[in-house]
Amino acid sequence: MEHGHVHDDFADNVAYQNMKQGSIEVITGSMFSGKTEELLRRLRRARFAKLNIKLFKPSIDNRYSTNQVVSHDANAIDATLADCATDILNHAADADVVGIDEAQFFKADIVDVCKALAENGCRVIIAGLDMDFMGKPFGPMPQLMAIANDVLKVHAICVQCGSLAQFSHRTSGGRGLVVIGETNHYEPLCRRCYAIALKG
Ligand SMILES: [Zn+2]
Repeated sequence: MEHGHVHDDFADNVAYQNMKQGSIEVITGSMFSGKTEELLRRLRRARFAKLNIKLFKPSIDNRYSTNQVVSHDANAIDATLADCATDILNHAADADVVGIDEAQFFKADIVDVCKALAENGCRVIIAGLDMDFMGKPFGPMPQLMAIANDVLKVHAICVQCGSLAQFSHRTSGGRGLVVIGETNHYEPLCRRCYAIALKG
């Protein structure tokens, strides 16, 4: 994963100067781009700073039997499963920092929920896929990126040519959107290799 110090500076600035104002940060990219790792990194830093953190993910994302985003290590952060965006509002009381993983699966009302949290002084950190496997903007992610204070695009590595990849190419599976947890059905490709793959 590649990201510049500019974003670290921004995150620290938000953490220490903008707390009362609240903020919205988006971390986005293809599958295998390290979005969740970056989300967890920011949440851990906030936890080190003694801030009250809360992590949510949609209940559709049941890759793990436990309710942790990363299973059983000292750095794990418990995630609360949310059936809908308003679940987040109902369970985010007292949180200084709210993390939302796999945000692309929430409905459009996630946008108002994030705005309400930020207006209430909360630092909201969102991770999610920017595009589905067809290369189309995914769910509420375009709106979330538009209203965010800061957007970080992270990249995977193209399995065909080794360039930075930004597309999640489906190699098998049905016609629905991203098949949760079945990451073996996807491969990260750069724009050129993705276009070639779509032509078959
Ligand atoms: Zn490529």
